[in-house]
Parts: sequence; C-alpha cells; structure tokens
Amino acid sequence: MSPTQIVSVRFQSLNLPLLEPFAIATGTQHRVENVVVQVQLADGTTGLGEAAPFPAVSGETQESTLAVLQELEKQLLQKNVKNWRTLATQLEELAPQAPAARCGLEMAILDALCKHYQMPLYVFFGGVETQLKTDLTITAGDEAHAAASARSIVERGFSIIKVKTEGVDVDYDVRRLQAIHTAAPAAKLIVDGNCGYDLIRAQDFVNRLAEARIPVILLEQPLPRECWEDVAVLATTCPFPIAADESARSARDVARLAQDRSASVVNIKLMKCGVLEALQMAALAQVHGLGLMIGGMVESILAMTFSAHFAAGIGGFEYIDLDTPLFIAEHPFTGGFQQQGENLALDPDVAGHGVILPELLC
Ligand SMILES: [Mg+2]
Repeated sequence: MSPTQIVSVRFQSLNLPLLEPFAIATGTQHRVENVVVQVQLADGTTGLGEAAPFPAVSGETQESTLAVLQELEKQLLQKNVKNWRTLATQLEELAPQAPAARCGLEMAILDALCKHYQMPLYVFFGGVETQLKTDLTITAGDEAHAAASARSIVERGFSIIKVKTEGVDVDYDVRRLQAIHTAAPAAKLIVDGNCGYDLIRAQDFVNRLAEARIPVILLEQPLPRECWEDVAVLATTCPFPIAADESARSARDVARLAQDRSASVVNIKLMKCGVLEALQMAALAQVHGLGLMIGGMVESILAMTFSAHFAAGIGGFEYIDLDTPLFIAEHPFTGGFQQQGENLALDPDVAGHGVILPELLC
C-alpha cells in the first residue's frame, strides 16, 4: 500500500451557534448546520474539510450532504490523494448535484496531500501571498440595526462593509444604505442583492444610490440567476461594477458572463462548485479580464481558511468576503488564519491549511 492512499473517510455534523441570524434576500439561517470531513492516509496523515450546504442557494441540506458523503466514502477508499484531480473529476461525475459535499471531500484530500509533503496549502495553489483584507457583512435588517452595525464594523477596523439588501422596496433599501453611509462615511460598500430585484427596480436602485453619492464599489447579484439578458441590459448603464455570484456556479457560467458582458467580477465560492471547478473559474475569469472575488456560505474558520489559502495562493483577488467565522459564537477547531480587524494572515510555514480538530473523528 502507498503511504498516500486513503484508508478512511469520516464525517459528522458540525452544528455551531451564530451570534445573530444570517439573513439574506432568499432566506435566513439561524445556526450553522455544516459537516466536517476527515480523510486519513495509510501513513497516518489526516486531512480536514468542511461542507457548508446553504439550502437557499443550492438546495443542499446537512441531511442530504451526510447521505451523499455516505455514498462517496466507498468510492474513495484505497484511492491515492496524489491523483487528486482525477478524484475531484470522479466526485463531480458521481454527485453533480452535491457541490458542498464534494467540496468538503476535496478540501480534506488536499489538506492531507499537502500535509504529507509538508507543504502549505497556499503554496500548492501558487504561493503568491499570505495576507488578505476582508469585508464584514451587515445582513438584512432595519435601518437602526444597519446603522448600529456599520458603526461597530468601522470601530472594529474594517474599511469595506458588505450590505445585504432585500430588493422588494427600493425606497427602503436606499434609506438603509443612506443610514449606513451616514453612520460610516469613510467605509466603501459592497451591495449584495442576492437575486432580490427585477430589472426595473435594480435600475431605479442603482441610479438613486449614484445620485445620493453612496460609495458603492461593487453590486453583487442584483437579479435572479435566470435573468441573463436583463443583467446584461443593467450592466450597460449601471454606475457600479456588477459581480456575479448565484449566476457563477461553474466555468461554463463564467464563459457566458464574459460573452454577455453582464458582469465584470466573479464571486468564487468553493461550496458552489468544488475546488477543481473553482480553479477553472478563476483561470477563465482572468483570461477574460474579469475581476476576482472570494466568498463563502456560512462557513467556520475551517472552510474559510481553506478559501483564504486558495485566494492568497492564486493571487489577484480584489474583493475578499471571508467574514462568516466572525458570526459564529464558538467552534471546536484550533489554528487557521489570524485575524486583526480586516487583516487576515496565513501562517506562511504550516503544512496544509493549518486548521486542526483536537479530537479526531472516529
Ligand atoms: Mg453573494
């Protein structure tokens, strides 16, 4: 048996309390219901991954993820993590509708591979940098909540605030953005519509934000995924760059967005597609001159540290949205990126992603 062959695949629910509910236009999450995945190699090396199903986005749940992992476990035993690209392709063929489950396995496989060779994960991805600056999110909520959140975010050392909007009442959304800008005048804003607008409301919304001189640096996913033509129309007059999130789930989507000229930034989230597909999306976006953003679902320090290695290793990610560990009240892990205000720093020398579960799964 080769030392890099997989001898066990284990997984269990990762239920974590949130400090406040995470509300977006399409749904609210009250606690984290993720899955932690552990792969063990013949030489004893273990790798850790996290699957973060977000029902409102992909339809996956914790229960469906556990069921898919049960099936995929058998396919991975005896396989060699040196062949990770082959393994990732096989996982995609076996479970095309379960990207979060596949992503958790890919993360664990790559962590084990890098730990076996004593290589930091960001080096595996290209080794470009070890530091990133993240935004911090104000989830959906009223004007008073938004203004108070904005003040506290700036006090905590953040210069970019991401704001989730509801998309139903444009007046209300504009008032809320104004309240945030008044409370935190120096902050730059990323506005995330999470598919909540239609073309008419979106045009009204962006025009009024521009008139009010609200410093929006990015408008993320204003329209539903299926409105490919409408978002291309919006892009022709929108005063802000548009980022595709729900519309960018695969490399094929990125090709379409580039062809339609409907987005100038792609929000890459590993949970939407898995690690291998995300690499292809990033490469394709760069080829087409599209900007790169890294984000995530509601993920713990484990998956977010993996994404930080991905973005820092590849380099050139202009927008960093890796803030959900700050919403989680407690977790069982040690290690991971160090955060001071908006600054995230990876340990430049740790093997793998560096997040450890003190009690291994059995
Ligand atoms: Mg988004």
